[in-house]
Amino acid sequence: MQNFTETSRHDPEKIEPSQRLRNFDEIYKFFNSRQVRKQSARCVQCGDPFCTTIGCPLQNHIPQWLEAIADRDLERAFQLSNESSPFPEILGRICPQGDLCEGACTLDDGYGAITIGSIEASITDLAFAAGLQIPFPGIRHPQKVAVVGSGPAGISCAHFLLRAGIGVEMYEQADRPGGLLTYGIPGFKLDKRIVEQRFEILAEAGLQLHLQQQIGQDIKLVELIEQHDAVFIGIGATQGRRAKIKGEELPEVLLAMDYLTEKQQQLFGKSAHERISMQDKKVVVIGGGDTAMDCLRTAIRDGARQVSCLYRRDENNMPGSSKEFHNAVEEGVEFCFNISPREICREPNGLICIEVERTQLGKVAEDGRQRVEIIPSTKHCISADVVILALGFDVTPLPELDKVGIITNQWGQIQTDQTSGMCNNMKVYAGGDCCRGADLVVTAAVDGKQAALAIMQQILVSRLVSRDA
Ligand SMILES: Cc1cc2nc3c(=O)[nH]c(=O)nc-3n(C[C@H](O)[C@H](O)[C@H](O)COP(=O)(O)OP(=O)(O)OC[C@H]3O[C@@H](n4cnc5c(N)ncnc54)[C@H](O)[C@@H]3O)c2cc1C
Ligand code: SF4
Repeated sequence: MQNFTETSRHDPEKIEPSQRLRNFDEIYKFFNSRQVRKQSARCVQCGDPFCTTIGCPLQNHIPQWLEAIADRDLERAFQLSNESSPFPEILGRICPQGDLCEGACTLDDGYGAITIGSIEASITDLAFAAGLQIPFPGIRHPQKVAVVGSGPAGISCAHFLLRAGIGVEMYEQADRPGGLLTYGIPGFKLDKRIVEQRFEILAEAGLQLHLQQQIGQDIKLVELIEQHDAVFIGIGATQGRRAKIKGEELPEVLLAMDYLTEKQQQLFGKSAHERISMQDKKVVVIGGGDTAMDCLRTAIRDGARQVSCLYRRDENNMPGSSKEFHNAVEEGVEFCFNISPREICREPNGLICIEVERTQLGKVAEDGRQRVEIIPSTKHCISADVVILALGFDVTPLPELDKVGIITNQWGQIQTDQTSGMCNNMKVYAGGDCCRGADLVVTAAVDGKQAALAIMQQILVSRLVSRDA
């Protein structure tokens, strides 16, 4: 260990841009056994590992699994890594590590942080390839928990309940499980086979998955509560926000989630509407977050002639991960900063015209960000064949929440106790984007885990009470 002076930080090899644009495959080649050992051995094993205590929302045992894998003990590294995390091979791929564990690494100050995310993904990839398995005890309790939504929050809750031997019935409205891991985050960031692999593991552990079952429509929430010992709600926040400008209802204007979902369905073999084909088109994406980057990079793989991003702030103030921004630049996306759209209209030649104005950043507002100010007399037009709006998401509330005593705030987000995820109805828990608003996979995983632990406690207490009665 501690050989950070001899070995420098290396990120996994990236496929060349010209090659990666030919398909939707992952762009990183994760570490082999030798590389993972070498990079892990850079860890200084600090007394107070900030990567875990401050950086990682799941408080993963990072120094411990780095030490184990540096010592060639793949099995121990795999078990430790899967102890605190419901899907380390997924989080290692898609967490914004620079803002989380790697940003808190002591070596980030000059030497280059440990490549924690890539090592984490590689440990579980190598372990699965070697046939190692996560121990699940089988269903050992009569109690049953319903999980609504099969995204990261739901998977995490189900994973930790199943590890405690508690049966889980998962209800998902879509035709495939995974939430945004399946129909959101594109394959070049997360291979869909990796998500499927997790569901195969959960199915073997006893998960009962019910696809194309919409709670509130096919099954009432009140019935679910009656039929189960506890219910966890993890329905996400995927209702795309609009720009609230004239012309955004034109058929050439798409919402990011509609585009990404339909594109992924097409990649799964379904027929798609002509409007999502970007072949030879000039595509303009409005927005500067991770969803915008995913739309831009999807459109460019889809054969678009030109792909541009319009963002009303500057590069330093983009909300998305800088890694994904640089990947988009490498792949040929054009970025237009300090541009704000005013109106969208169709020109006589059939092209779409986005009327925009130039902006500058002004004084800091209450939210801590600089205000966007329009520069007068800078109105001009940007032409496009397709416009994609990637402007954030809201929650689509479940119907009849109030009938079961669940409280939501003004944005429709479910209100819970922060330490347990429990709602006002004591049989119901919730977590992930439907409580926080659009956030991260890792924070949804934290919520699911926290709720699973609280549900286990509740089940244990009820068993003790009924035994003593
Ligand atoms: C394009 C895109 C890219 C992203 N990239 C990243 C990234 O790189 N890294 C990162 O950390 N985060 C990323 N995020 C954010 C991340 O995906 C979310 O924060 C995370 O998926 C939230 O998990 P969740 O379980 O709360 O919700 P979701 O993943 O949205 O899952 C909710 C599930 O509930 C189901 N559901 C909804 N209503 C019902 C109902 N009534 N009955 C039954 N089922 C229902 C939905 O169909 C869905 O499957 C990205 C988001 C988007 C949109
Ligand atoms: S879960 Fe995310 S933050 Fe935690 S160690 Fe893994 S990559 Fe880092």
